[in-house]
Amino acid sequence: RENVVIVGAGQAGGELATGLRQRGFSGSITLVGDEDHPPYQRPPLSKGFLMGKIPQEGLYLKPHETYGRFDITLRLRTRVESIDRASKHAVLSDGSRLPYDKLALATGGHARRLSLPGIDVGRLENVFSLRSIADVESLRGAFVPGRRLVIIGGGYVGLEIAAVAAQLGLNVTLLEAAPRLLARVTGPEVSAFIEGVHRSHGVQFRLSAEVRGFSLDASQRQAVGVDISCQGVQERIDADLVLVGIGLVPNTGLASAAGLAVDNGIVVDEFACTADPSILAIGDCANQPSAYTGGRIRLESVPNAIEHARVAASTILGQREPSTATPWFWSEQYDLKLQMVGLSSGYERCITRGDPSSKAFSAFYLKGSRILAADVIGRPADFMAAKRLVTGRTPVEPERLADEGIPLAKVAA
Ligand code: FAD
Repeated sequence: RENVVIVGAGQAGGELATGLRQRGFSGSITLVGDEDHPPYQRPPLSKGFLMGKIPQEGLYLKPHETYGRFDITLRLRTRVESIDRASKHAVLSDGSRLPYDKLALATGGHARRLSLPGIDVGRLENVFSLRSIADVESLRGAFVPGRRLVIIGGGYVGLEIAAVAAQLGLNVTLLEAAPRLLARVTGPEVSAFIEGVHRSHGVQFRLSAEVRGFSLDASQRQAVGVDISCQGVQERIDADLVLVGIGLVPNTGLASAAGLAVDNGIVVDEFACTADPSILAIGDCANQPSAYTGGRIRLESVPNAIEHARVAASTILGQREPSTATPWFWSEQYDLKLQMVGLSSGYERCITRGDPSSKAFSAFYLKGSRILAADVIGRPADFMAAKRLVTGRTPVEPERLADEGIPLAKVAA
């Protein structure tokens, strides 16, 4: 009987384990995860779960019992410490060794730590990051109305936390190093729109802000302020709690210790295989060829984790089906639903369709007559059409995009 061992019981690992069974895999499947929970969705951690609207069980991809029913051995609170490639064993934190025929690394990533000279940020009791249920549990007690929350990082996770905190009555200040929010992923029009929405809910911003250090209390265990330099002006932002949301570092240690190539993620081919044909890598931890960009890419999104798990299941089943998916992502802030498809880097012009003040509009990022990417706010039908245009690389007549009288399905050149 073939042995599959999956390292990391997150979105990608969970999808691979259940997907393999659903597609008729009859070998043994062991899913090893170092958290306390069966595979769960992380997106609600910075949205409905943090808000208290979704119960913990509501996060689980499948009820705990399903893994037993699917004959999947789920080993939680267990780390894979190393991989013995010569004898094909995974070495676990409890000392046991699991034999494998195929090993899938689905190790995700960890929150990037803030490094500040002279301060051990990890020791500060009121400085948080948000990646797991455990992180939300420790953050929740500090989320008290009226408290001053300083968020470092204006990416999607930081902004979603700002939205929840503002709605719960905290006083929020968000610090962003770039001159605008979401600078890496959206155009200035969408950044300005998002900033305006947050400001209307009382969130304050410092853009182009460089964090110089923390002011600590007498115990040296609590940050009481964040010291920044903003366009040459020094300022201290008083804080009762601080949330650091400055991105993710892929968990590649196991792979590199096993001698596998790592370059912004574990390097895999279009079938999710590393250079060792017995070892695959999927999800946030993997750097994969992209049919969409034609180059290599590491994506951090649920749709990617699901798609990559599907590719890996095909490989393990001997069916070899590479991914052709176009990257997409979503975010929720206040009553806004944002959907993004494609990657806008290298775009030449941005065309908006609809009026941002109505809180329902789309921004299309074009290179020549081709739409590289689209950000769609509150217009799900536009999103479906945009996804087709981006995926199909359909040449469009740019002027027609802006004209709401013309259905998006009819903008093709
Ligand atoms: P993960 O889900 O991180 O799972 C990896 C698991 O492996 C973890 O449980 C980790 O502890 C475990 N692990 C690591 N090393 C070992 C080891 N050696 N032994 C055992 N276990 C190990 N995506 C979207 O598309 N839309 C969103 O709105 C969105 N919002 C998000 C909000 C937040 C707060 C966060 C944190 C993420 C969000 N994402 C969102 C991203 C999305 O959740 C991730 O892309 C997805 O979870 C990736 O799945 P994964 O399985 O690759 O990694």
